[in-house]
Amino acid sequence: MWMNSLFGFSLFGTLKHCKTDAASLEPAAKHKPIDYPKPDGVLTFDRLSSVFLSNTNHEEEQPVHLQVKDMELQKTSEYAVYAGPSSRYCPAGVYEWVDADGNALTDGSDVADARFVINAQNCVHCKTCDIKDPNQNINWVPPQGGEGPVYTGM
Ligand code: SF4
Repeated sequence: MWMNSLFGFSLFGTLKHCKTDAASLEPAAKHKPIDYPKPDGVLTFDRLSSVFLSNTNHEEEQPVHLQVKDMELQKTSEYAVYAGPSSRYCPAGVYEWVDADGNALTDGSDVADARFVINAQNCVHCKTCDIKDPNQNINWVPPQGGEGPVYTGM
């Protein structure tokens, strides 16, 4: 970046990882779960507080703008194989995997009862799900006119 800024070119070119973000995700069984620290409210904040600050607004009965093409694939692969990364990569907490009692599932267990919840009203339209879903099974489309985040400080 600095070579580009200073000299208008870089000896290193552009570094690429030669596959899409979706294809770079590996099955959860190949990795140890990460124990993320809880937000401290000083430097780090919980996702829903940040969604509140974005002034995101969608009508409750909005047309679906987060389209899951195959719900069974979402369960048997995105959840059972990849342990539901959508519940972690979405910055707005839109996606949740829950059991029959509504408790959060994060490890790919209890597949038979696992249910995919989509809190579409919180979406801040970053489009990460469209790019990162390992099966390219989520399609983000523009929401109906004027809905979404309203960043008053930008
Ligand atoms: S577009 Fe971004 S905020 Fe909206 S559901 Fe996808 S990952 Fe979450």
